[in-house]
Formats: sequence, structure tokens, C-alpha cells
Amino acid sequence: MSDTPYVFKFGNGANSVDPRSRDKTVVGGKGANLAEMASIGLPVPAGLTISTEFCAVYNSNGKQFDDSLRAGVADGVKHIEEATGRIFGDTANPLLVSVRSGARVSMPGMMDTVLNLGLNDQTVQGLADGSGNLRFAWDSYRRFIQMYSDVVLGLEHHLFEEALEQAKEDNGFHEDTQLEAEHWQALVTVYKQIVQDELGRPFPQDVHEQLWGAIGAVFDSWESERAKVYRRLNDIPGGWGTAVNVQAMVFGNMGDTSATGVAFTRDPATGEKAYYGEWLVNAQGEDVVAGIRTPQYLTKQARERAGAKAPSMEEAMPQAYGELANVFEVLEKHYKDMQDIEFTVERNQLFMLQTRSGKRTAKAALKIAVEMVQEGLIDEKEAILRVDPMALDQLLHPALDPKAERDNLGKGLPASPGAANGIIALDADTAQQWAERGENVILVRVETSPEDIAGMHAARGVLTARGGMTSHAAVVARGMGRPCVSGMGTISIDNRSRTLRFGNRELKEGDVITIDGSTGDVFAGAVPTIEPELGDDFATLMGWADKHRRMKVRTNAETPEDCRMARVFGAEGIGLCRTEHMFFDAERIPYVRQMILAEDEAGRRSALAHLLPAQREDFRSIFKIMAGLPATIRLLDPPLHEFLPHSDAEFADLSETVGIGVETLKRRAGELHEFNPMLGHRGCRLAITFPEIYEMQARAIFEAACEVATESGEAIVPEVMIPLVATKREVEILKGLIDRTAAKVFEEKGKTLDYLVGTMIELPRAALMAGEIAEEARFFSFGTNDLTQTTLGISRDDAARFLGAYVDQGIYPRDPFVSLDIEGVGQLVSLAAERGRKTRPDIKLGICGEHGGDPASIAFCEATGLDYVSASPFRVPIARLAAAQAAIKG
Ligand code: PEP
Ligand code: MG
Repeated sequence: MSDTPYVFKFGNGANSVDPRSRDKTVVGGKGANLAEMASIGLPVPAGLTISTEFCAVYNSNGKQFDDSLRAGVADGVKHIEEATGRIFGDTANPLLVSVRSGARVSMPGMMDTVLNLGLNDQTVQGLADGSGNLRFAWDSYRRFIQMYSDVVLGLEHHLFEEALEQAKEDNGFHEDTQLEAEHWQALVTVYKQIVQDELGRPFPQDVHEQLWGAIGAVFDSWESERAKVYRRLNDIPGGWGTAVNVQAMVFGNMGDTSATGVAFTRDPATGEKAYYGEWLVNAQGEDVVAGIRTPQYLTKQARERAGAKAPSMEEAMPQAYGELANVFEVLEKHYKDMQDIEFTVERNQLFMLQTRSGKRTAKAALKIAVEMVQEGLIDEKEAILRVDPMALDQLLHPALDPKAERDNLGKGLPASPGAANGIIALDADTAQQWAERGENVILVRVETSPEDIAGMHAARGVLTARGGMTSHAAVVARGMGRPCVSGMGTISIDNRSRTLRFGNRELKEGDVITIDGSTGDVFAGAVPTIEPELGDDFATLMGWADKHRRMKVRTNAETPEDCRMARVFGAEGIGLCRTEHMFFDAERIPYVRQMILAEDEAGRRSALAHLLPAQREDFRSIFKIMAGLPATIRLLDPPLHEFLPHSDAEFADLSETVGIGVETLKRRAGELHEFNPMLGHRGCRLAITFPEIYEMQARAIFEAACEVATESGEAIVPEVMIPLVATKREVEILKGLIDRTAAKVFEEKGKTLDYLVGTMIELPRAALMAGEIAEEARFFSFGTNDLTQTTLGISRDDAARFLGAYVDQGIYPRDPFVSLDIEGVGQLVSLAAERGRKTRPDIKLGICGEHGGDPASIAFCEATGLDYVSASPFRVPIARLAAAQAAIKG
């Protein structure tokens, strides 16, 4: 084998048997695909690739090229010469090459490229003679000087641009196309003089010096500032390096039998199985993308559909088009995926310059994956792996019309996906009233609290100035399927004048805004939205995902509407029903308040007696909708003072309803105040002090379950969940209470049901003591919102202000409230799962924190062997797909 370890040849039969020659990690993405295309007989201009491994050697070795590399490149150049019948540096029949970067993953525009290399004062004449086109030759030479001077010699681009403008002005021209051969030739003289003046030495005439200069520049560009920034943003390790591809130039600008274009083997927007692309006659690659000339359609069908006149390639160059269409088929069969390609036709001869798997919309991804299975190209498992679960979000929610104009007011956190527009309402009551009038409303608050729920529900979207990805606004909006942008720190709200500022823009209540909860962007005015469509492809792919996943997927839902929605999305049960959301109903809140403010147990019991029938109704409707599917109902969790009135008017109202003086009410509310409610009197601690609350809830659950079981004949197995436990003893006490209540209800109803009592694991102590807690608990549900908060010591409600800096600096790779901190919090989850299982081998394990809808966290749950994940209704499809991917990847 004549290849040195660092240089691989491709094209013209020089296909190395060494698999490294087609391995992206060795020769980069571009080099690998060029070699691969050449090896399956496609027309690829011959070339050589210097491996990525040399990049590190070069950059750590004082930027030196060793003898073996020089020999390898010389051999590779000889190969290109043989393939093309041209000689590098030959005055009569010169070979020109392109020199391009090519990292393992594409880094668009980040690194350097030099085209037309090999031109000098002599070879330009040979190019003119060979092509019979003097203008083309001199234009190519001046392009080369300009590009080489910029990329390799480090001269400012504008020096050359200005000279070109001057030349046009001197000749009275407006367009580049008006310049003839002699004008370009004169400009070459000017360009060379610029180089001489700037550098004090002439433009290199030795083609080998040109080549090594360009190779060095490509390696140098790996270490450029912009490449480093791009790598940091995209998690690309610096050690990977770039390859360098040196390839024979082919020219799409050699007259009317030459052309260049870009194409996709299927439509990347819709996924339709139709070639899709653009081309230009007599042009070079950059002309297609630069937008100077309007590219033409590739196929006759696309041209006709668009009502365009300029001929398609299919019509204008039928033979080359026929070859191209054949290449599309070969490529799809070979790569078994939709390809994004670049091609050039030089005097009726087709050449492939690039192929890679094409980027596509979610809709196209589904269609392509499903159709490729039907075509026998891939199997179901591969189809499942082809679709990014998060991309499904695009399909499930309204999105901004991509064609619409936008007036951006700034950005917050993308807390709940989807787009919505409407008039600003600054409080929940206003939102509700205006929504009842039929208006589209966006509720804008500093932050939301449980009492805003009705307003949030009435609104089309929610925007907050404070709060992170698991803040109240984020969690509740996601559950309701309402778009939400949270933590937009540039908003300041003046509730007295009913105005608000976005940085220095002032708006007022009633003005129209648009929020995009998928990106966090907020716009002034109404940006039109487009409705989601879930087609057959979605159903087909989801069916395959369900077949191949191990974990069950449940939902976090409490209202009948959300439960129904979740079932439509394929939820197989409820993983978390947050019962506190049921306490805020306008008719119930007075009794909730009465219960909290009661001086003694008897007072509390009398208020709870009013709540019991309402709660029982809630649970009846949930059990009915879930029709025998498992439902985990969590007993009351938040600190009691969240339910108390805030304004004087609310206190006065309450005083009237419950017959207690305003002063007494205020005193009692003051007593309940906490400095850190998140770590205060909440969760099971409420029931340790006021057991009658959980007793009422347990009674409502068991009465509802018995009734629905009798009416429907379904086996209903309620799962009663105790939140925020830290010790076995808490569970023992409260489980005793629940068991006693169940026994009483069963006796009263004359009916016995199976049921499970379990706990949330959401405090580090609970995770550590899981072995003991499992003696009492039949199931664990990991509440990773609180577990993240308490393990990291970062408040879920205040994190937004500083967490961005943490992610930017790579302290946490992603927001740990969005994607589980597997390294840290993950250890507690694994340990608790392991200890829980040791005590109780059949313990049911699930996750109900927001991470239950995040694909990376779901993969961790699969690896940890959890039985199910639970996600908000709109995330259920994402979780189904992600769980299938995790199971397939093993
Ligand atoms: C959790 O803490 O992860 C959880 C699901 O409970 P909540 O978000 O209601 O505190
Ligand atoms: Mg919690």
C-alpha cells in the first residue's frame, strides 16, 4: 500500500481497502463520503485526504509537515494527475485543485477553503487554451488570488473588493458579468500588486508552495477563534481535528453545457419522495447559494408547481439529469437515508462533490422514516432511531408561521412549547374575564402561583419575568399544553399604570404580543401561527415505538381534560395527579381557607367535610377516564399559606364567608408565613401535623374508586402517594392513617379493592434511606424536581437568574431542571432504586419530575431499570419515542 498513514486517495479506482479511508473519525465527514461515493462507482473528481489525526500533530509540532506527509501528498497529487490527464503546475495542461476542510461533523462556514489552486502567470494561459475560454481563465485566476490572499496570506478581503469596484467604475460597468477577459487580466495585475505592497513579497507562483500554504491554512483554521467558539457551543472536542481534502477542480462555469447545483433526494420540508433542488447553468457552486442569480428548479414537476418559466435541469439537460437521478437512487440505497448533495456538470459530464444525510423538518423526518420501512430500505427499529423525539414538539403545538414578519421584544426561557398570540392581561382575573369575552389573551406576570391557575387556563399563553424551567408557570403551563415563556428578566411590570416594559420598549395591558414557548422568543403584535397536524405517519411510527419499548409511559395530569388529552397521546396511566390543583377552584377555595384558618381539629374537620364530595367527584372522573389504567394520586403537597388570600379585598371576602374577623384572619395568615416555604411546612409534614387533611383525601379516593369499580366493572387499583418523605417513620404513620381510612370505606361500601401506598423520592435522605422506606412503600416515584433542587441546593424558582451562566460556562452541561444531572442526582436515583429493590424486589419504580419528558433523562431511566416514566400530556409522545430509542440502543 503506497498510502502513508496520514494520506488517503480516492476516485479513479484508487479506492483504498483500508476501512479508515471511509471512516469519518479518520478522514472527516466530507472525505469519508467522497471516498464512499467513489468506492460505489459514482463520478467523484479524484482527490486525496490528509487525516484528522495529522491536524493534532501539525498543531502540536510547531506547524511542521514531515517527510512522510510530503511523500504521501506527492503520491496523491500524482494520482489526481493520472485521473485527470492534467499536470499540477504544467503550463500547457495544468491541473487545478480545491483544498477544503472536513471535520468529523460538519461545522458550516467555520473553516477555510481555497478553490482554483494551481493557477499562476503561466498556467492561466494553459487553462485558457484548454478551455478555449480566455475570460473564464482570467476570472478564475483573480478569484484564486483573492481567496488565497484572504485565507492563506491573511490579507483583508476588502482590499480586493475595492480594486474590483474601481475597475468597474473605470470602465463604466455595474455588474461583474460585464467584465471581459482583458478586464480580469488587468485586475490580476492590480491584485498581485496589492499582495506585493501589503506583504513586501510577490504572490506565490510556485504551485507546490501554494498547495502547502493552503493545507497549513486549513489546519490553522481548526484553531481559529470562530471555530473554537463553534466547538464550545456544539460540544465538539478540540482533539478531533479537521481533515484536509485536496481534489481536482471541476467547472460548472465552462459555458452552457456546464452547470452546478444542490439537491435533496426527498423533499426536506414535507418528506415527499420527490427530488428537490436548485441548479444554475454556467455557474460555480457559490453562485447558487450567494443569491446573485435566481437558481432554477431541478425537476419539471417542481417548476410547473411553482409556475416558474426558467427551464428545469430535467428539461434543459436531460442526459446529465438522468445520470443525476440515477445517482440519487444509488445514494439512497447505499446510505439508506435522505441525502443532501452538491454536484457540478462540466461540459455535460456529471460530478458529485458532496453527499451527507440531509437535515429535515419533523414532519419530513416522520414521513421519510415510515416510507423507508415500507420501501424495505430500513427496519422499524432504525426508523424509530431516525426521528428526534424533541422534534415531535413541532408537530404537537401551533408554531409561528415561518413566512410571517416579526418584531422581537426579547427572549426568555422556552418553558412550554408552542406559539400563541393575544392581548396582554396582567392578572389572572382579567385574563379570565377577557377570555370569556372571546379574546385571545396572554397572561403576563412577574411569576405565577397556584391561584393563577384559572387565568392560566383561560389564557392562550403565559409569560413570566421570573422563574426557571420547573417554576410554577413552567410546570403548570406544560401540563395544560399552554405555550409559556418564563424567566424573561428584561420585563418590568407596573401594576398601577397597567403598563410593562420589555427593556426599553413600553407596552400596556391590552396590547397584542406573541410568544414562542419553543424558543423563548417574544414579539410585539400578532405573528400568525400554523396549526399542528398529526397524520398517519405519526400514528405508524408511534405504534412501532410502543412495540419496541420496555418502560411504560404515564402522564402528570389532574383535570379531566388533561387526562383525556394524555390518553389521546397514548398515556398508559397517571404517574402524578397533583391534588393541590383541585383545591383552587373558586367554589372550594373558601373551604380550603376555612380549613387552614381553623383554630382546632373540629374546625378543620367541618371545612374538610365540604371539600370531601368535591374531591370524590374529581377522583371519580379520573378513574372513569383512565378506565382501569393505573393512577397515582399524590396527597396534598404545597405549604398551606399558598392558599391564603393576599389582598385586603380578598381578606374582606373571606371574613364574610367564614365569619371570622379580618384581623384574626390576618394574624393567622401571618403565623403561617415561612421564610423558605420550599423547605418548610409542606408535603407529608402537613399531614404529620394535620392528619385529617390526608384522611379526607384518602376517603375521597377510596369512595370514588369503590363507586367507579362497581359502576364500570373495571378493576381499579388506586396508588396513593405520600410526598416529600425523608424517613420511614413518616411513611409508617401516614400509611397507617391511609390503611385505616381504606378499611373504614370498604366496610361502609361493602366492597374491598386492592390499592398501593407508596412515596415520592424527592429528598436526598429519602434516596439514602430507600431500603428502609421500601419496607412501608409499595412503589417509589422519583420527584426529580425537588430532588434536583435539594441535591444541588439550587431553588427551582430562583435558578433562572444565574443558571444560564452555569450552562454557558459548562459547569452543568444543560439546565439540570430540564435534563437530569445524571452524574450527581442520577447517583441518588440509582442508589434508591437499588436499595428499594433489595428490600422489596417487586417494588414499582417510576419518575414524575419534569425529567420524565426529557429524552436524555429517559435513557437514564431505562438504564436504571425504572418501570415507567411520567410526563405532561403533550410530552407523552416524546416520552414514548425516547423510551423506545433507549430500549433499542440498550
Ligand atoms: C417533583 O418534585 O419532582 C415533583 C414531581 O413534584 P412537584 O413538582 O409537584 O414538587
Ligand atoms: Mg416535589
